[in-house]
Amino acid sequence: MRDCTSLVLFGLTLALGMSACGSPRRTALGDIEVHAVRIDSTNIGVIHRRGQAVLVDVGLEGAWEKFLPELEALKVDVDDVDRMIITHGHGDHAGDIEAVQDAGIDVWLHADDEAAVAEGQNSDTEVIGLEAAVLDLFVTGPFPPSTPKLFAEDFVIPDLKVAVHHVGGHTAGSVVVLVDDKVAFVGDLLRGGNLGGLVAPEVPLVHYFHVDQDVSHQALRDLLDEHKDVHTIWPAHGGPFTRDQVDTWLTGIGF
Ligand SMILES: [Zn+2]
Repeated sequence: MRDCTSLVLFGLTLALGMSACGSPRRTALGDIEVHAVRIDSTNIGVIHRRGQAVLVDVGLEGAWEKFLPELEALKVDVDDVDRMIITHGHGDHAGDIEAVQDAGIDVWLHADDEAAVAEGQNSDTEVIGLEAAVLDLFVTGPFPPSTPKLFAEDFVIPDLKVAVHHVGGHTAGSVVVLVDDKVAFVGDLLRGGNLGGLVAPEVPLVHYFHVDQDVSHQALRDLLDEHKDVHTIWPAHGGPFTRDQVDTWLTGIGF
């Protein structure tokens, strides 16, 4: 199974590396810059200003080493990274936490996903659709266990205008990371396109797995209703989306 998983992930990586990338992956918010760097099939968020940076998600096992040259290309010093926020405790987001901690960076996860990451095993979820059922056979295997720092309350990082909101839905501990109330990293509350964003990355779709998909979709509706200035929405796979794209899609599925 492990060989099979590696093969599938390798194929996805190759394919994603070749896929088109039409939308900007950088947003300037005053002196704060927001980037999304795709490593394997996962978007890693980089939020930074001079001398200070926060990251969102790390990706699969081995992702950190692949990500470091990308961070350097953005002219962000790894020593300036204060912390990493994990959107939720799945292996393609939390699979390389120890490598990040070894670099001296605090990694934070919502406490409701503690067990999955401590055990290195994705929690049980609904499997939605045929593609999900096939993927489930390959990509939900064990991942390296880790012990991130845990939070239970929403919090802000004032210097970088970052706000972290617990929403649940995809997993019990899923969070949304908002930057200056304008750019949102929403993890796996939805996905962009098929096969991890390989096909049609800018088409919003129901994610393959949810503990409770209605909670995920309502969280996205609440995000739009309560944060009227949000204009760019990054799923962890594929994307990005405009506010209008997510609005139209949510309405189409009854939210
Ligand atoms: Zn997930």
